[in-house]
Amino acid sequence: MKGKVVAIQIGAPSFVDEGVEACLDTLQKHASVNTLFAMTYSYKEGLSGRAWPPVDHGRQERSPEFHGGYYAELHPQYYRNTLFKDRISAVRAPDQGDFDLLGAVIPAARKRGIRTIPFLADQIHEDIPEFREMAEWDLEGRRLPQVCFNNPHFKAYLEAMVEDCVRSYDVDGLLWRSERWGPLSNALSLSRGDGPVKNTETSCFCPHCLKKGKEQGINVGRASEGYRILETFASTARAGQRPTDGYYVSFWRILLRYPEILAWDTFWYDSLRATYKTVYAKAKAIKPGIPVGCALPATISFNPFYKAAVSVRDLAKYCDFAKIICYHTDGGPRCAKYVDALRSTWLQDLTRDEVLALEYRIMGYSQGSYDEIRSNGLSADYVYRETKTWVEGARGTGLHIWPGVDIDVSPGEDDPPRSREGVRDAVLAAFRAGAPGIVLSRMYSEMTLNHLAGASDAIRLLA
Ligand SMILES: [Zn+2]
Repeated sequence: MKGKVVAIQIGAPSFVDEGVEACLDTLQKHASVNTLFAMTYSYKEGLSGRAWPPVDHGRQERSPEFHGGYYAELHPQYYRNTLFKDRISAVRAPDQGDFDLLGAVIPAARKRGIRTIPFLADQIHEDIPEFREMAEWDLEGRRLPQVCFNNPHFKAYLEAMVEDCVRSYDVDGLLWRSERWGPLSNALSLSRGDGPVKNTETSCFCPHCLKKGKEQGINVGRASEGYRILETFASTARAGQRPTDGYYVSFWRILLRYPEILAWDTFWYDSLRATYKTVYAKAKAIKPGIPVGCALPATISFNPFYKAAVSVRDLAKYCDFAKIICYHTDGGPRCAKYVDALRSTWLQDLTRDEVLALEYRIMGYSQGSYDEIRSNGLSADYVYRETKTWVEGARGTGLHIWPGVDIDVSPGEDDPPRSREGVRDAVLAAFRAGAPGIVLSRMYSEMTLNHLAGASDAIRLLA
């Protein structure tokens, strides 16, 4: 186990509620943690909030309304060339008062030999007007609640935040996460596992993207037209109106008629890649020695379109590490819902079992039936296979693969059973597959200590 990374995702509320030293004590004792992914910039309660209902540690009462934002001190001099030049305090998270997550945690963690890697999430708050200026546009020119990677204001803001974070604190690395995917997947409702919901977030058609796309030789008018037709196909399919030639043939016919659909999807992923590169280049220019990496969404396990667009060899060019989500418990319902999403449009002519079998075949793992994975989750074998695929893909590059192991993610009534043994087996599987590290996910505040201890159980067995 020497040199292996045992990381955990943790937000400011845990340190505030439990105390920095007490929190670090718990993490070392129950999970042998040697790396913190400190939730420094997040607008998602599931990353940087408190758990509700409460677990067996932390604050036992419900939080006031969650807001999110940046949980460390902001330094205005870095934001002079951004839309926030006069009011960067607008992105300071108000939830934990003036608690400085990085200022308080880094020195205390380092004394114990624990590394701290700030985690910056690709998120915004819709109530902050500057974000509207950076937003993606849908086909109708409506602003979406997410930033456009080709928006120069966003690029300036992201670079400023990376510089602020890396210069202001003695960080041991940096992680930037984007849990989004291209317009093709969005048009087909291929979300990360929310089922066949109507998705109107086909993007981005803002002036910056249209200009850049044109410069690259893409017929953006045809791309827009193709996506309108694809959206109509998808909504008609969701309504159960079968085309004469069937769903698959009709979908393929649209792609043949509008190859610009794929060009625009690739354009979106190229823009995502450019953003990864921006983060990497900025951080490395300041501190060349620190590892800079990314966190990939659970979609990577379920969506072949996403996996094709984000290749491991390519990631290795601008990431030192990648956290890939391999959630054995939560992955079951997510995979099942993903099957529902696939069946809602272009694969509607297949039965649920056929889609699931196809999914297993093309994504390289095999688990139980639809009902079984929905009720019981996935097994440690899924963690093993998924990790192995990534580790082998990265072989010969400098990219380190750190699988994310789920512990009590977003507890609900219909969850598959969660257990200490399940965590132990998932951690063992990840290391057995050759991973140089793991990330206990999604956030410490929602993990029960007994389940968390499954990580230490595994580490003891491996020692
Ligand atoms: Zn755009």
